[in-house]
Amino acid sequence: MKLFVCITVLFFTYSSDADWYEHSFDVMGTRAKVEFESDSKKLAAMLVKRVEDEMNRIDQLMSPFKETSELSKINTMAFSQPVEISREMFSLLEKSLEYSRFTSGAFDITFSSVGYLYDYRQHRMPSNSDKTRLKESINYRSISLNANQSSVRFLDKNTRIDLGGIAKGHAVDQCIGILLNHGIKNAFVNAGGDSRVIGKKQDRLWYIGIRHPRDEDKLIVNLPLEEVSISTSGDYERFFIKDNVRYHHIIDPKTGDSARHTQSVTILASNSVDADALSTSIFVMGVEDGMKLVNQMTSVSAIIIDQQGKMIISNDLTNAK
Ligand code: ADP
Ligand code: MG
Repeated sequence: MKLFVCITVLFFTYSSDADWYEHSFDVMGTRAKVEFESDSKKLAAMLVKRVEDEMNRIDQLMSPFKETSELSKINTMAFSQPVEISREMFSLLEKSLEYSRFTSGAFDITFSSVGYLYDYRQHRMPSNSDKTRLKESINYRSISLNANQSSVRFLDKNTRIDLGGIAKGHAVDQCIGILLNHGIKNAFVNAGGDSRVIGKKQDRLWYIGIRHPRDEDKLIVNLPLEEVSISTSGDYERFFIKDNVRYHHIIDPKTGDSARHTQSVTILASNSVDADALSTSIFVMGVEDGMKLVNQMTSVSAIIIDQQGKMIISNDLTNAK
């Protein structure tokens, strides 16, 4: 019986006219990729374009570096007056606040009140006095949302927000949505550390590797995946080292300084927004508190590399071994 099923699957795979398509591009300060199976060359070309356009659209909306983005408009105006925002922005802000409450403030998009003073390329960081002063403004409770008016207001004049810990996950989900709406069954979408897979890669599961945090040519594990999102937050993505201290892009809201409990956190979840927000959150929380939270959730798994390079996995993965 098993053999029969196997042969049927192979028959469908190889007798169909379906081809695989893949396309990589730069967006949101990182590399993105889409890969999928389609039996129409024309549809495939359209979808490749739609996916790239969608990621660019979200970048235009949410980039803190583009003066014309909706996010920049919020940052400039939301203290002096309520700013009316798109439904999409509103729901992402709502989701961010949910995660702030859920993680006791480890996930906090107002990290940027201090975070904007770091420039990892130029090896620049805030002075101690700026850090101490602006740290007080890292507080998600200063973001006030009004659902009736679809508006946002800041309650603190130094509040700044940045969606870098959740926007790529949102973009990946949106792109998977586009592919699903056009009948695509087997696909992979990736933006930086965030990926999501549907269906299979030919007749096999998808494989996604987690890289060694201190050696980019090495994988610490290669995971077979099906119908899942995977997101990795690492202290090696954007960083510089000064006086033997690593300054990187994930900020502990309590200190305004880089979070240093772990080297990388990988989260598996059913969609990329959740996986993305959680990987950043658990990175800030560290092994003990982070794993406690993960083990309370159903359908969420974690693989953490701690500061000594040791791998720790969530209970569900331990039981699955
Ligand atoms: P990457 O962007 O490298 O894929 P992450 O998903 O971990 O990695 O996101 C890191 C980004 O999250 C940072 O560049 C910054 O924009 C944002 N961020 C940093 N610290 C926090 C925090 N405490 N809460 C929410 N977002 C954060
Ligand atoms: Mg993240």
